[in-house]
Amino acid sequence: MKRVSITVDFEPDCPPYLSSTFRGVQEGAPALLDLFADAGVRATYFTTGEVALKFPAAVRALVDGGHELACHGMTHTAFDTMDATSARWEIEESAAIMRNITNVMSFRAPYLRFPDEFLPLLEAAGFGLDSSQAKYKRSYYRAHPDTSITRIPASMTSSVLRLPRLIRDRWLLALSDPVVLFVHPWEFVDLTKEKLRLDCRFRTGRVALDCLHDVIELFRQDGAVFLPMCELMESSRTA
Ligand SMILES: [Zn+2]
Repeated sequence: MKRVSITVDFEPDCPPYLSSTFRGVQEGAPALLDLFADAGVRATYFTTGEVALKFPAAVRALVDGGHELACHGMTHTAFDTMDATSARWEIEESAAIMRNITNVMSFRAPYLRFPDEFLPLLEAAGFGLDSSQAKYKRSYYRAHPDTSITRIPASMTSSVLRLPRLIRDRWLLALSDPVVLFVHPWEFVDLTKEKLRLDCRFRTGRVALDCLHDVIELFRQDGAVFLPMCELMESSRTA
């Protein structure tokens, strides 16, 4: 049976282009939670420490909704621009903030860029899963060092989910198990009139919500099960 994890990168709006606004967390996230509740899907929210500090009620709402709280660093800075001291601070500080709320096991680096040399920092901070790699990036296919962390890559970039069904569906159904999809709360705010890169703004807002609803239905009709990433990790270990 195909396993699907829907993940949400819970972060400022369309980084690094907007970054100082949080309309996604404020306006997009409630509709997204409703969609997951209606669909009976438990998702994984890779949350920045900054969002957890600024919007505790939004984080509480996702935990109360039965979703997995996970870590997306502190300030949404790319880890490949940092030295080890900054990387350790980003990981430890965000983990401490989120572990005041609930147990946190899963990590994803901003922009899906995480140098292998920082893996020991994740191990030391008690993470069990890393989803910073992407199957659609060449770097995934290079050799990587052994680690105690289970690494489960993202299957597909987020904007693909907003493509028209005719193009999108065949592409999605061809993804192999486990399927890891990701979205951002700002995709569910209408950004079509903002001065942004096209893939950040096209078909955002209501259309994006409808697309995600249809994608969930597509996989459900294909017989898939939906799991948060921590449960995907457990099922990968026993498989
Ligand atoms: Zn991000």
